[in-house]
Amino acid sequence: MNEIYIEKFGGASVNSAETVRNVASIILTQNNKRIIVFSAMGKTTNALESIVKDFYKTKKIKSSLIKQIEDNHLVIIKELFGDGSKEIESKLKIVIKEIEETLIKYKNSTINLLYDAIVSYGEIISTLIISTYFKCIGIEHILIDARQVIKTDSNFRGANVDWRLTKKTIKEQVSPLFKENQIIITQGYISSDAKNNPTTLGREGSDYSAAIFAYFLKAKNVTIWKDVPGLLNADPKIFSKTVKFDKIPFSEAIELSYYGASIIHPKTLKPLENKSIPLFVKSFIDPKASGSVICHCKSTTPNAPSYIFKDNQTLLTLFPKDFSFIVEERISAIFSIFAQYGIRINLMQNSALSFSVCFDLIDQELLYDLIDKLAPNYTVKYNDGLRMITIRHYNEKAISSVIKDEEIIIEQRSRVTAQFLVKK
Ligand code: ASP
Ligand code: MG
Repeated sequence: MNEIYIEKFGGASVNSAETVRNVASIILTQNNKRIIVFSAMGKTTNALESIVKDFYKTKKIKSSLIKQIEDNHLVIIKELFGDGSKEIESKLKIVIKEIEETLIKYKNSTINLLYDAIVSYGEIISTLIISTYFKCIGIEHILIDARQVIKTDSNFRGANVDWRLTKKTIKEQVSPLFKENQIIITQGYISSDAKNNPTTLGREGSDYSAAIFAYFLKAKNVTIWKDVPGLLNADPKIFSKTVKFDKIPFSEAIELSYYGASIIHPKTLKPLENKSIPLFVKSFIDPKASGSVICHCKSTTPNAPSYIFKDNQTLLTLFPKDFSFIVEERISAIFSIFAQYGIRINLMQNSALSFSVCFDLIDQELLYDLIDKLAPNYTVKYNDGLRMITIRHYNEKAISSVIKDEEIIIEQRSRVTAQFLVKK
């Protein structure tokens, strides 16, 4: 059989020498043709983000921040390679130097382009170390640069895939590699535009990369390895008791991620659903356990309400100054202003004389700017720091288990979903 499988290992699965060894042991248990997609190690992307912010403000390289990234990786390298670490250490040095050169190169460009050019190094470094280690222990593979294969537009920090071009690059550059290789290793999250500028697919975008490869290679399935046993009905950091779903339909998983469940990068599921490629979510801590599968199935098993908490919500309420009713034309004008600010609306409610919209926290400056834009026609009131609680497949017991004495600002219920915007 020549079927291809896709696996994705996130940052937490490769945040230490011990976890990298664990990943190797998982990979060694199978022997089919695979693309293995890796994220940056641990919290590297956040650390690179700090470098970008600092450099954009000061236009000076803060060496302590760069050194921290180098040191974090050196700890892992030393433990993985012991006495044989010199070669990979000098390769790491070259990449670190490249980060500094890239900062200079993009000194006068927009923050978003600078951002993508720099944060993409997290994945470059992780795959460099992992690939070198795999070679060292005899896991044969070929390492490819995802930036040459995943092509996007120039919407930096959340680039849109150019499906036509990516189909071509995968067909020409990736598929033929399986003639001589069983395993291909590559980076998640990173890509490039038509001019070969580096781009990224949005935070946590490695899942999406895995789905893109799966889509074009008609993969048998995708496995995302995580530090939780599978898809849970609530965030285990908030809830002491959670239920693991064994099976969940694509449509339901898409709904959950739409409401903010941080299970999987939201763009991941659609391409897989279209090609009927099941997505397994499994624990890298307990790789033999069954995990969860998202697939074309009728309903979720076991059946349980899902709880999604989304903090940092802002609520704007608009009252037309001319006391006219809130009618369709007004709503469409309001929407177009929100779209200009790239705001994704999480919940809205209208009455005859007011229109309320809830969305994720945006930059304070941007918020004031937005309010200024609305001010000529509306009196604007706002609340921030709110929490949105969404319960899918709710019942009264599920609601009373999470809504206690919070002040409820807006409440909405459909047949399947109950949402509460509350003051924390
Ligand atoms: N390294 C990137 C991030 O932390 C992408 C990913 O992990 O999926 O957002
Ligand atoms: Mg991650």
